[in-house]
Amino acid sequence: MMKSIITIFFLIFSFQVYAQKLDSLKLMVDLKELSSDKYQGRAPGTYGGRLAQLFLVNRFKEIGLKAYHEEYKQGVTVLGEKLDRKGPDSIWNFKQVKGANIIGFIPGKKKEVIVISAHYDHIGIFEKRIYNGADDNASGVAALLSMAEYFTKNTPHHTLMFAAFDAEELFMMGSMGFFKNLPIPEGDIVMNLNMDMIGTNSDYEMYAGGTHYYKEFKPMLRKIWGGRSNIGLRFGYDIPRTKDDRTFRSDHLMFHLSGIPFLYFGVPEHLNYHQTTDDYDNISHSFYYTGANLILDTLIELDRNFPDVNRRENIFKK
Ligand SMILES: [Zn+2]
Repeated sequence: MMKSIITIFFLIFSFQVYAQKLDSLKLMVDLKELSSDKYQGRAPGTYGGRLAQLFLVNRFKEIGLKAYHEEYKQGVTVLGEKLDRKGPDSIWNFKQVKGANIIGFIPGKKKEVIVISAHYDHIGIFEKRIYNGADDNASGVAALLSMAEYFTKNTPHHTLMFAAFDAEELFMMGSMGFFKNLPIPEGDIVMNLNMDMIGTNSDYEMYAGGTHYYKEFKPMLRKIWGGRSNIGLRFGYDIPRTKDDRTFRSDHLMFHLSGIPFLYFGVPEHLNYHQTTDDYDNISHSFYYTGANLILDTLIELDRNFPDVNRRENIFKK
């Protein structure tokens, strides 16, 4: 009995001891806040969406991020407002609304930029029920905030841009708008690290996308994630013409189409995906905290030892 207790203690300790860089309390507090009913599911162009923007602007200020735009807000026009919906996911009844990406940065020693992204919007209210989107994607946004906080105390080599995108749930119109009106020259962006749903997986696996196209990231990912925690990193979620291809499923797509290397982290779609049960209570704290720390470790390594990764053709400039 004692031996197994010691073993368990050792396992917990060895899994957790390295993972101390992020402030776990702030991570959870931000996640809980953004996924609370107050934000009414954060649909673009709604009261809840604007409240989420305000929350992010205040957190960016508090963290001390620099801004490209007034109040960190890059305005984007999106087609939104679900009116006659048949389900929370059904096609929106299009109407132009104003959305905003919330963008801040930490200047590094180099002018090359790594863009860290996570969408903050979700699907709002349907039939008077709020879809809080705790995993999708308050989890990615809270991690983005914690990472930004870490790098304000640990100056990066690269310039780090933190982009909380709007309207991912609406055909990625937020990240599309970002590319229409880039705050920096496109050639300065060396990669995108995108997080979308990183808060829970009972199988303790994180999926990685991007290495099919940008293979040079793989050895580094294996080094960071291999055997250091109870979370396994799984590759293969970016293979064209397979059902698990997630290349087209989140904001990293716009970077990829522009020929900019990307890495995406996320969990598989679970029972709470796009349901009212995607709530704070269904986040796995240990999975989330450990996973977010490993993504931060990945980012630290990318910042220090950026691999010689090949850009692809920009399909918009063909
Ligand atoms: Zn999402």
